[in-house]
Formats: sequence, structure tokens, C-alpha cells
Amino acid sequence: MLESLVGLLMQTEIMNAQIEVQEKVDSYYVEQAGYEKGHVIEVTYDVSSRGEINGDVEEFREVVAETLSDARGWVRANLKFTEVENGGRLHMVLASPSEVKAASPSGCSEKLSCTVKPYVYINDDRWLGGSDSYNELGVTLQNYRRMVINHEVGHFLGHGHIQECETETGLAPIMLQQSTGLLGCQPTWWPLSSELWVKGL
Ligand SMILES: [Zn+2]
Repeated sequence: MLESLVGLLMQTEIMNAQIEVQEKVDSYYVEQAGYEKGHVIEVTYDVSSRGEINGDVEEFREVVAETLSDARGWVRANLKFTEVENGGRLHMVLASPSEVKAASPSGCSEKLSCTVKPYVYINDDRWLGGSDSYNELGVTLQNYRRMVINHEVGHFLGHGHIQECETETGLAPIMLQQSTGLLGCQPTWWPLSSELWVKGL
């Protein structure tokens, strides 16, 4: 009798703990952002270019809009991205390699895209040519572009880098530096469910 009662109490304890963990996960981004649960956060952004670029800014604008409004992307974290002519909270910039580097000489490289909040600099060379890591696997340029936009916007949303594949699926988190190497993970161009939070918006 006593044993079963103890067992029951322990079970209840475990269940409560599980519920608590789930609630923490659900509310994490909301608490960080200071919004009520279910509240959609609107992020306005503008699009521009910097330096001598070879890419087409109008095409860049279209791909950014498609990627940021795609139901598989960051919108799953209750975000709504709206393009404005200027003065957005987020600035999406197609930039020449030297301008990317100039944005933060110690933190950005001429070879990669880079985020210096509230600016996301997409490197014109990578925009046009993708990365070796993706090209070697035959991933399309369209999906490379989705990945690099989602990765850099992830930095804007408060994410740092992740260095390993998701344990269960072997997928690369969007915050893994897929441009420089996949570390044996499967490439992915949308954020994983475990990455759907924002901080500091
Ligand atoms: Zn990064």
C-alpha cells in the first residue's frame, strides 16, 4: 500500500516535471520577447545593397521576401516579416565581399555573409556562387540562398552557432555554419523545431 502510494507520488512528480518542461519550451521565446503567448511579433525590414555587387537587388528582394514569409521558416516562431521602404527594424543588405568585411573587420570575413545587428549582410560572392559545402552535395543555389538568409536572420533573432547535428535526425541546425562545412550532418535550409525561439527583439 505504502509502496504503491510512493510510486504514485513519484509518477505524479515526473508528470508534473514533464509538463513544466514543455511549458518552459512553449513560453521561452514569449518570455524573452516580453509578449503574451500566441502574440505574433512583427519585424519590419528594408532591402538595400552596398558596394559593387554583381547580383540583382530585385531578385535578392524577392528571395528574401519568399524565404522570410515561407511557412517552413522563422514564421513558425510566431514572427511576421513585413518589408518597408526604409527604417525597418532589420536591414537586409546584399553586399560586396569587401563591404561585408568592412562592417566588422574583426568579426566578418570577405568569404562569408555576416550579421552586425540590425544589419544582415549577404555576401554577393556567396549569393551568386553558393558554397563548396553545398555545391559538392548538389544542393541548388535556391536552397543555399534560403539557408544563408535564415542563418543570418537567426543571428538577428538572438541565435549563436551550433556545432553539431540534431541527435535524432542527423539534420544540420540552421545555426550550424553550413557554408563552411556540414560536419557530417544533412543540409537544411529551414530552422529546426528546436530553434524556434527569439531573444532580444
Ligand atoms: Zn553564423
